[in-house]
Amino acid sequence: SAEKSDRKLDYYQPEQDRYNARRLTLMSELKQAINNNQLSLYFQPKIDLGSNSVVGLEALIRWHHHRFGFVRPDEFIPIAEQTGIIKPLTRWVIKEALGVQQELLSEGHDIDISINISAKNLREEDFVSFVSETLASNPNNNHKITIELTETSMMEDPLKALQVLEGLSQPGVRLSIDDFGTGYSSLAYIKKLPANEIKIDKSLVFDLTSNIDDQVIIKTTIDMCHRLGFTVVAEGVESQHIVDILKSLNCDLIQGYYISPPLPLNKLKLWLSEMDDY
Ligand code: C2E
Ligand code: CA
Ligand code: CA
Ligand code: CA
Repeated sequence: SAEKSDRKLDYYQPEQDRYNARRLTLMSELKQAINNNQLSLYFQPKIDLGSNSVVGLEALIRWHHHRFGFVRPDEFIPIAEQTGIIKPLTRWVIKEALGVQQELLSEGHDIDISINISAKNLREEDFVSFVSETLASNPNNNHKITIELTETSMMEDPLKALQVLEGLSQPGVRLSIDDFGTGYSSLAYIKKLPANEIKIDKSLVFDLTSNIDDQVIIKTTIDMCHRLGFTVVAEGVESQHIVDILKSLNCDLIQGYYISPPLPLNKLKLWLSEMDDY
C-alpha cells in the first residue's frame, strides 16, 4: 500500500548506504593499494621568508583508486588508523620519501623532507627502532627529515608522545608540531617537547587579512615560539597579502598554494629547476 512504501522511504537512506559501501570498499582495498602502487607521494615546498629559498618539502600521500579516482588522505588516513594499516602505510611513506630525497640529492637538490605521522604510530613498540634502522641503512648519510605530528594527536597520550619524540630526536631528525592552534595543549607541555618547529594551522592563517584578533593571536604565538627556540611555519598561505603580513609578524617559513600546491615528483623537479634559474 501507499502507506507502507511511504514508511519505507522514510527509513531508506541511499546517501548513507553509498557512504558505507564506499567506506567498506576503501577499507578492504587500502592494504593492497600499498603493494599495487596505487599510493603515491606529492610534495609541497616550504619556503624561508627571509631568503625566499626552498628549505624543505612536505610529503603528502595520494591514493589513485581504480574506481573512485583520487581519494583524499582526509578520507583514508582515518580508515588506515582504525584498521591498523597505518603501520605499514607510514613505513611505506618513510621509505618512499627517503628514496625521493636520495634521487633529488643525486640531481643536486639537498633538501629536508617532512613526513606526517599518526598518533597511532607512537603506540607501535618498534616505531623508534624502525626509524633509526631505516635511517642507518639509508645510503644517504646526510639525510634530513622532519617528522610532523599534530598537536591534538599528541594530547591523546602526552607522556607517551613525549617519550617517543625523545627517542626520535636524533641527528638528522627534526620534529614539527602540526596544526598548532587548533588544540588545547598548554604552554608548559609544548615547552617540554624536543620539537624544532611549530606549524600554525591554516584555519588561523586564512583569516589573517580580515580578522584582527587572529593577527594578535598569531603575533603572540610567533613571539612565544621564538622565545622557546622553535622555528615557526605558517601553512595555507594563499596570497601575497598574507605573505606580507606574516613577514611583518616575523614568521620564519611559509607553505601554501600561493607558493605551490603539492606536486608529483616529475612536476616538483621542474618547479625546483625553475626556482634555481630564478
Ligand atoms: P596537513 O599535514 O595539515 O597538510 C596540509 C594540507 O593542507 C594538505 O592537504 C595540503 O594539500 C593542504 N594545503 C596546502 N596548502 C594549502 C593552501 O594554501 N590552502 C588550502 N586550502 N590547503 C592547503 P592534503 O594533502 O589533502 O592532506 C590532508 C591531511 O592528511 C594532512 O594535513 C595530514 O594530516 C594527512 N596526511 C597527508 N599525507 C599523510 C601521510 O603520509 N601520513 C599521515 N599519517 N597523514 C597524512
Ligand atoms: Ca603536515
Ligand atoms: Ca597542518
Ligand atoms: Ca591538518
